[in-house]
Amino acid sequence: MILEREAIRLKRLNYIIIGGVDMNKELEFAKELIDFIYESPTAFHAVETTKKILDKSGYNELKEEEKWQLKTGGKHYVIKNNSAIVAFEIGKDKIEEEGFKIIGAHTDSPSFRIKPAAEITSEDHYVKLNTETYGGPILNTWLDRPLSVAGRVAIKSDDVFKPIAKLVDFKKPILIIPNLAIHMNRNINTGVELNKQKDMLPLLSLINENLEKGNYLLNAIAKDLEVEPLDIIDFDLFLYEYEKGSIIGLNDEFISSSRLDDLAMVHGGLNALVHSKASQSTKVLVCYDNEEVGSTTKQGADSNLLSNILERIVLNMGGDREDFFRALSRSFMISGDLAHAVHPNAGEKHDPQNRPLINKGPAIKISANMSYTSDSDSSSVYAQLCEKAGIPVQWFVNRSDERGGSTIGPISSSHLHIRSVDIGTPILAMHSVRELGGVLDHTYVTRSFKEFYK
Ligand SMILES: [Zn+2]
Repeated sequence: MILEREAIRLKRLNYIIIGGVDMNKELEFAKELIDFIYESPTAFHAVETTKKILDKSGYNELKEEEKWQLKTGGKHYVIKNNSAIVAFEIGKDKIEEEGFKIIGAHTDSPSFRIKPAAEITSEDHYVKLNTETYGGPILNTWLDRPLSVAGRVAIKSDDVFKPIAKLVDFKKPILIIPNLAIHMNRNINTGVELNKQKDMLPLLSLINENLEKGNYLLNAIAKDLEVEPLDIIDFDLFLYEYEKGSIIGLNDEFISSSRLDDLAMVHGGLNALVHSKASQSTKVLVCYDNEEVGSTTKQGADSNLLSNILERIVLNMGGDREDFFRALSRSFMISGDLAHAVHPNAGEKHDPQNRPLINKGPAIKISANMSYTSDSDSSSVYAQLCEKAGIPVQWFVNRSDERGGSTIGPISSSHLHIRSVDIGTPILAMHSVRELGGVLDHTYVTRSFKEFYK
C-alpha cells in the first residue's frame, strides 16, 4: 500500500518514464498546447499566435500584393484575411524534383458569432446579446459557463477600401448563458431541445440608470481599443470559454480544453515546422479558416489560396508552370484534423473492429465514400512515417450506419490534385466547449509531423 502510494506520488511529480516516453516532456508539451489555445480564442488570434512563433523562429511575412524574392532555404509566411496562414521553408533541391511536403489544419472552431445591433433588453432590466451559431457546437456545453468575447474589429480609415483591422480580446468573463431551472424544465435530463435564437443568448449585464441605454458592447470595445465608438464600422466577434484548459486524470493522462479541434493540429504542425532542420523538399504548413462552415471562403480550403502560393513559389524560384505541375505530382499532404476516440460510455457508437483509443497514437481516417482522402497508397506512407518515428498509429472508420464528418483534406487535395492522407489524434467530446484529448497523443502526432518534414 505504501509502495503504491509512493508510486502515485512519483507519478504526480511526473518523474516516471513510461515505455520509453518521458512523461515530464510530454506533459510540458501538452501544457504548451493549452497555453497556445488559451492565447487563440478565435481564428484571428490563432493566426496572430502562430505569426508570433514564426517571427521568433526566423520566418518573415510576405504580402500577397507585393513582389516576392525567394531564395533556397528562405522561411516565409502569408496571412489571408487575418484568419488563415500559410508558412513555408524552401528546400535545398529543385522543387519540381522534390515537391512540397504539406501539413494542413484549420484555425476555426464552433462558436457563436455576435450579430449586428446585438443588444437585447429583457424585463427592462437584463441586457443580453443576439448571436448566431458558428459551425456545429454541442449547445448544452455552453450553458452556465463564464464566457468572453474576442475577434476582429474594422475601424474607419482615410481609404474606404482599407479599413483598419484590430483584434480584440476581453480576457474577462463578461457573459453567461444561464440554464432554465429543472423545476421549470422537468425533461432536462431526458432530452430538451435548445433553440438557437431563444435559449442560447448570453446575458451581458443589467441596465444601469447611470449609463446611457444601448451600445454597451460597442463602447466597451472602443474603450479596449482606445478608439472612438463612432469609428467602429463593423466586427467579427465570437464567444469563447473564459476558463483555460487543464491537464486532467489521476496520472495526468488527459488534456481538457476548448478548441483542441483543430488548434492541436495547428500547434503540432507549427512545432514540427519550426523545429525540423532544412530538408531537400519544400516544407509547407497551411492553416485554413472556415472548415467548420464548409470551407467555401477565400481563406478556406475550398479556394485557390494554397495552390496560388505554391505556384508563386515555383515561378519565383525560376521554374515555369510545367515545373509547378511536376512539383505537385511529387508532393504529399497530411491533412490534420482530430478523430474520434472510442467513448468509454458509448462504445456501441463506433466501428466494431477499428477502435481508436486515447494515448495510443494518431489515427488514419478512412471512409469508403471518400469524406477522407486516405487510400492504401497515402495511408501506407503515413503508417511508415509513424513506424520510423517510433510511435504507434491507429485506424478510424465510422460505423457503417453513422454518417460522420469530413475535413479540409478532400477539399484542398482536389484543388491541388496531390496525394493526401487524413489523420488526427483521437479525442472525446468533439465540438464540446471542452474537448478531451491525450497528453501522449499530442507528442506522438507532432513526432510524426517532424518525421514527415525530415
Ligand atoms: Zn476539425
